[in-house]
Formats: sequence, C-alpha cells, structure tokens
Amino acid sequence: MKKAIFPGSFDPLTSGHYDIITRGVKLFDEVIVAIGINSAKKYMFSLEERKKFIEEAFADEPKIKVVSYEGLTVDFCKEIGVDFILRGLRNPADFEFEKAIAHTNRDLAPIETVFLLTSAQTSYISSSIVREVIRNNGDYTKLVPKSVRMK
Ligand code: ADP
Repeated sequence: MKKAIFPGSFDPLTSGHYDIITRGVKLFDEVIVAIGINSAKKYMFSLEERKKFIEEAFADEPKIKVVSYEGLTVDFCKEIGVDFILRGLRNPADFEFEKAIAHTNRDLAPIETVFLLTSAQTSYISSSIVREVIRNNGDYTKLVPKSVRMK
C-alpha cells in the first residue's frame, strides 16, 4: 500500500492545502495529513481546532487520515511505515526551501519527497495571509475550505 504523509502546521487549513491533498489522494492509497507540533511556535488555532478543520473538510474521504506528531518528519514516517512525503510548490521561494528540506530528509532516511505544483487559483494563498485577514476582520472565506469558516 502506497502511503504519503502531508506534513505542515495547517494554522489554518487553506484552499491551497485542500487542493494538494485532494490531488495527492489520486496518487496514493492513503494520504496522512500530519500536523507538526513545534513547542517554540505560537499558533492562532489550537491543535484540536486545526485537526477538526481537516477532519471535517475530508469527512467523506476514507483515504485521508489526520494525525499530529512531534520531532523529525522522517522519524515519524519510519514510525508509521510511510515511504513518501507529499509537499506543495507555489513559487521559486517554496522550491528553494523545499529542496533543502528534501535533500536533508534524503540524507536522514530513504524517503522520497513528491512535489505537486499548486493550482493557479490557489497558488497565492498561505496560512499566514489567511491569519492576517482573520486578524483584521477581512473576508477570508474564499481562501479556506468550508470547515474553517466558523470563527
Ligand atoms: P509549514 O508550517 O511547513 O509552512 P504549511 O501548513 O504552511 O506548513 O504548509 C504545508 C504544505 O502545504 C507545504 O508543502 C506547502 O508548500 C503547502 N502549501 C501551503 N500553501 C499552499 C498553497 N496555497 N497551495 C498548495 N500548497 C500549499
């Protein structure tokens, strides 16, 4: 069974993440959306809220699981028996950043990173922009799946 992990903060889940997960499911038997816990980072949404947004967005898709993890992504992959990391690429800055992470991960473990280019319609969206719009009471509903539109 081909399983991939889609790691990130998902603070909150955006339409860009949704697009990559939906397309990733066509390539893998299971996509595990893994919320990385970084104790040094301050989040807008609690872990429970972030998890709920993702679970509700994919409630009808049994091939998508949601988990949280601490530590290195490759260690978590080994722990749960996953051979692929799925990532989205929006722009050249993402590419440079992701390239360094993917090379490092390959040094650490025989795990392949699979990149999907973002859809043109969602390539400008980031969780940090969504948080900024929410903080300033702007209309963020176009930037996120329905499950996130509840705050
Ligand atoms: P991180 O904390 O690693 O920045 P994010 O939750 O922002 O995590 O993103 C996780 C993954 O989702 C990354 O691979 C990132 O490139 C991808 N991603 C983020 N925004 C988008 C978007 N608008 N379209 C497609 N992929 C995206």
